[in-house]
Amino acid sequence: MNHHQVTTAPADQHRVTLEALQQRLHCTAEGLRSAEAKQRLVEFGSNELRVRKETPEIVKFLRQFTNFFALLLIVGAGLAFFADYLKPGEGNFYIGVALLAVVLLNALFTYIQEHQSERIMESFRNMLPQMITVQRDGQTSRIEARLLVPGDVILLEEGDRVPADGRLIEVNQLKVDHASLTGESEPQLRKLSCTHDNLIESRNMVFSGTLVQSGNGRALVYGTGMNTQIGQIVQLTKEAGTVETPIRKELRHFIRVISTIAIALGILFFALSVALGNPFIGSLIFAIGIIVANVPEGLLPTVTLALTMASKRMAKKNALIKNLEAVETLGSTTVICTDKTGTITQNRMKVATLVLGEREWSADQSGLAQEEGFADAWAVMALCNNARLTDHHYQGDPTEGALLLLAQSLQPIGDLAARFPRVHESPFDSATRRMITTHKTGNGQPNLAYMKGAPEIVLKKCTHRLHRGERVEFDDSARGKALALYEVLAARGERVLALACKTTDADAASEEHFVYLGLVGMLDPPRPEIAEAIDRCRSAGIRVFMITGDYHTTAESIARQVGLFTGDGQVVVGEDLLQTSEQELSVLLDSRELVFARSTPQQKLQIVTALQKKGEVVTVTGDGVNDSPALKNANMGVAMGVSGTEVAREAADMVLMDDNFASIVQAIEEGRTIFSNIKKFIAYILTSNVPEILPFIAFVALDAPLALTVVLILTIDLGTDLLPALGLGREPPEHDVMKQPPRRRDERLLTWPLLAMSYGIMGMLQAAAGFFAFFVVLHQGGWVWGGDLPTSGLLYRTAVTSFFAAVVICQVADVLICRTRRQSILSAGIFRNQLIWVGIAAELGLLAAISQIEFLQPFFGTAAIGWFEISLALPFAAAILLGDEFRRWLIRRDNRFVQRWLTW
Ligand code: ADP
Ligand code: MG
Repeated sequence: MNHHQVTTAPADQHRVTLEALQQRLHCTAEGLRSAEAKQRLVEFGSNELRVRKETPEIVKFLRQFTNFFALLLIVGAGLAFFADYLKPGEGNFYIGVALLAVVLLNALFTYIQEHQSERIMESFRNMLPQMITVQRDGQTSRIEARLLVPGDVILLEEGDRVPADGRLIEVNQLKVDHASLTGESEPQLRKLSCTHDNLIESRNMVFSGTLVQSGNGRALVYGTGMNTQIGQIVQLTKEAGTVETPIRKELRHFIRVISTIAIALGILFFALSVALGNPFIGSLIFAIGIIVANVPEGLLPTVTLALTMASKRMAKKNALIKNLEAVETLGSTTVICTDKTGTITQNRMKVATLVLGEREWSADQSGLAQEEGFADAWAVMALCNNARLTDHHYQGDPTEGALLLLAQSLQPIGDLAARFPRVHESPFDSATRRMITTHKTGNGQPNLAYMKGAPEIVLKKCTHRLHRGERVEFDDSARGKALALYEVLAARGERVLALACKTTDADAASEEHFVYLGLVGMLDPPRPEIAEAIDRCRSAGIRVFMITGDYHTTAESIARQVGLFTGDGQVVVGEDLLQTSEQELSVLLDSRELVFARSTPQQKLQIVTALQKKGEVVTVTGDGVNDSPALKNANMGVAMGVSGTEVAREAADMVLMDDNFASIVQAIEEGRTIFSNIKKFIAYILTSNVPEILPFIAFVALDAPLALTVVLILTIDLGTDLLPALGLGREPPEHDVMKQPPRRRDERLLTWPLLAMSYGIMGMLQAAAGFFAFFVVLHQGGWVWGGDLPTSGLLYRTAVTSFFAAVVICQVADVLICRTRRQSILSAGIFRNQLIWVGIAAELGLLAAISQIEFLQPFFGTAAIGWFEISLALPFAAAILLGDEFRRWLIRRDNRFVQRWLTW
């Protein structure tokens, strides 16, 4: 068999007999041998779609030039060249070149950043390979879906994404969602016979990329990789449309405000300057200078850097995010809706109690196997079960695994399943909360049906019980006793299932007239780190609601154990929720401590939407297929990496590799840090705008000599400020981020207090430092107000350089105070963020180079300065450093005025 034969095979896999298909694929219904599979993998290639539409790198690079800042700078460069054309030899040509160089560098840096973050996202994806159960060498095992080959037999279960095209050879209520392939949104029941001439329509087939909604089945793989239906439809790999994350919105707002200020100031000063009789070209260059001074060039790279760093740190803590910006969303979470099983608890179920009839046994008690009713209860546990025993443990659902392990420990199961072959299964799902299987018994005897599930469901379907080996009526008193025992087990935090059986002539047992056998109670201990994590949420002002399918008594017991309930907690049962009006629910959701028990996935969605309507930012966890609407609709959907289904992972924004609730809390801390760090960045870069603009104002309005040239403004914005600013994007979380309430939803990146601090106070101090140095130098050089001061003269150049040096030195102090929003720099650790110090070193190095290196001086219009000129700025820098320490001390002391007006 070769590749060619298969790709051109007629599309008749749904019509030919199974035998013919098997013959064609050289395989059996028992699956391939591993050696054969390995060979075929070489022959057919790995089972992957290689159609991801790659944007060419060059396009990605060129895109960097289309953002608003870049365009603004390009226009600025154009104006500078224009000015140079009108009046050559004024140095405007170099300004244009410098602007273009900055655009280029900025684009390059952002491009590299994005490239890197894409690579990180890619590596995250590779850490979450799609797994599938395959039948090889007469055994079932989990393998990566990309290793599948034609001829493999795969087992499909609820929540799986079908990994290849196949023909079904066994189905149990199997329903597959074909939305991704045909747009057909209603999941369809699969069959074993050909139902349609058209391959895609025929119900006996499954296709790669579709989703198993419920039930289970087995399929024979005939097409893998590109040789599938989906492989032929290239456009299916298009990424889902991107939604606007809160941080995107915030950045857009910030950019809009800042750009408006920049352009308005530019135009204003241009007009003013021309009106005051300054030459047109000089005014034009001023306008450019002012616009450039106000544009935060490093913003976009810093944001990407902050997001990338955070996502890397989160990955180390087992939280993989699928979209960079989602990290920040997580930080604004106000309510977490979490699962219980596996997320709060360890999902290591172990049967603790067995109730047979009306007697309660501890699971390890001896003599249990001789008890009346044991044989039937044992058979339910062993046969009404989809888990499989392995050498040491089990494979499959933990609830079922625990039952299997118990059954095996009480009496070896052996070949029971072969002696009582299953003819039908009505699978478990969290809506029906029970599972029923029907088995053949042979020699003309009727079939046996077994049921296990939530007691309140199972008991309703029982009309009899066992008494002294006889079936007797399951009357109210016996029912009452069973319910009482149920309550006892649940109050200990046990997850309880009821067991029942009956004989039937049907192949698929009806759901009535069962014989009640007893209860099983299993313990699933809480994860040890949960209590602390929940505590952290509480002090971070985040409410945690548990939404579980489990019984209310069990749920409450667990809630108390982990500290979700500290007193007045309320348990709401799913059934009651149905009777609750939207308004009542809204009131209910104001509670501090809430647990939803016996709730369905639809109710989870209902709760999430109701919370969002109230303005909450909701993070929700989920693992099942039915959870995906809630995961998609929440502000932040978190899927479980271990127990989660493929479908849930696809719907989520973040995947927890360890299923651990505590990891969410750590991720929230990172998310909060990002917002903070972007704010710090903004506070820092805005400050130097003031000493950049004021010289122009003084020049135009007071006729003072121009204290800072356009070239030097560009040098500050695009040179000295850039690296320290980037360092702020990498600040580690402050000690108390998780002791603050979530940021208010209307809190902006750019706020009045932030403007007041950076423009009003720190910026003014910097400008004062600059003017002080400027005029001291001029004064010492013998200049008096109104005197002649040629711009090419040494005195002027020394003064300008001193102004520039003062700004740079003050910005060193500024970056240090911007590192923390509340903490003292001492408690934050002076050297904890090394990138800051790299930035400061680069900043000072640049200052030294520009002022001291002779051949650079003509270009920058600078002159060498000494320690005296430098020292002129030091008192101002000290004032910035100490003054802000004092401000933050006042914030920590809850000073009302500072908190209201000067806290950003
Ligand atoms: P959760 O995952 O939130 O605990 P589930 O929907 O998985 O909720 O389970 C709800 C109830 O269904 C459980 O309390 C148990 O009684 C029952 N149950 C759970 N798993 C199974 C199963 N595999 N077969 C039958 N019944 C089950
Ligand atoms: Mg579950």
